[in-house]
Amino acid sequence: MKDSTENQAETEPKNRDPQSLIYIFGPCSAESEDQVLMTANEVVKKYPNAIFRSGIWKPRTRPNNFEGIGEKGLPWLQKVKKETGLRVATEVANTHHVELCLKAGIDVLWLGARTTVNPFYVQEIAEALKGVDISVYVKNPISPDLNLWIGAIERIEQAGITNVVAIHRGFQNYDSKPFRNLPQWEIPIELMAKRPDIPIICDISHICGNPKLFAGIAQKALDLNMAGLHVEVHPNPESALSDAKQQITPNELFELIEQLKFRKDNIDDPGYQAILELLRREIDDVDAGIVKLLFNRMEIIKKIGALKKENQITILQVNRWKEVVDHYITEGKAMGLSESFIKEILNSIHDESMLNQHDILNN
Ligand code: PEP
Ligand code: MN
Repeated sequence: MKDSTENQAETEPKNRDPQSLIYIFGPCSAESEDQVLMTANEVVKKYPNAIFRSGIWKPRTRPNNFEGIGEKGLPWLQKVKKETGLRVATEVANTHHVELCLKAGIDVLWLGARTTVNPFYVQEIAEALKGVDISVYVKNPISPDLNLWIGAIERIEQAGITNVVAIHRGFQNYDSKPFRNLPQWEIPIELMAKRPDIPIICDISHICGNPKLFAGIAQKALDLNMAGLHVEVHPNPESALSDAKQQITPNELFELIEQLKFRKDNIDDPGYQAILELLRREIDDVDAGIVKLLFNRMEIIKKIGALKKENQITILQVNRWKEVVDHYITEGKAMGLSESFIKEILNSIHDESMLNQHDILNN
């Protein structure tokens, strides 16, 4: 008979198996046959289920940079597939790319951030994919616009593609420091809520732009229960012809993945469930209180709006607003809340209040 600890080990859900995630690893650009084969032969040693990526056509912000090796790189990917058994992936940005990739037997196509942003391009690609059985990964658009992302996914789905995966690669903002592209986690989280059937993987290379930030962002993605990771891997990152600063060697990749914690997303333990339920009820009460307070605040705002209208006073008295923000930032900080958090919340409340008063003054 088994002893009780053995039984327990059997019933308790285990942490996520690192091998069960969707991994896309490989160089930003295919540069030479040796470079792709060398990388793939390393990746396959630890991650035989990974998808091997390599950009063949590269969308570069400025001209006169390396714009990808072009179709001459496709046989290199075929060779990777044959020699290693890894599935291979590349970016397509027009119907010509799609046709060449389908002919070459590429397993996964991805739409880049500069393509997702344009429904015309996405639609053209979708038309070219009608009736084809292939996986399509859709990167988020460069701008923080969830609907563009969902729209691109829908266009691909409407072409009959059933395996669609979203890639979160961050969003370009005026100031994205310390990242290359701001993660804005609320956007992929909303996508998860709206489309729980679409797996989302996190492209840590394009978010971070710098390997020093990889571990933190990869861990955050796993803790949000994302379905996998996308990492640019190059045998010699410093000499890479594109995105040199955000690629790591295969060994660095292995070390990175090994240091991550693959936590389970739930357990059956009744004690844990009961405490969680209790705490969630407390949160619900707090949230209900916040909404009620916002309502109360807006009612006062309306009264102030009416008073200002009567006396022909402008909506904004900037000194008063600055005092409010400074005061609550100080108070919040004393309680351990971050300045940026308080600022964001107050600004959002203030914007809504201004809108309300604007309506009152002009109606
Ligand atoms: C890439 O994956 O190399 C790439 C160009 O990414 P993105 O479209 O996210 O900028
Ligand atoms: Mn890249």
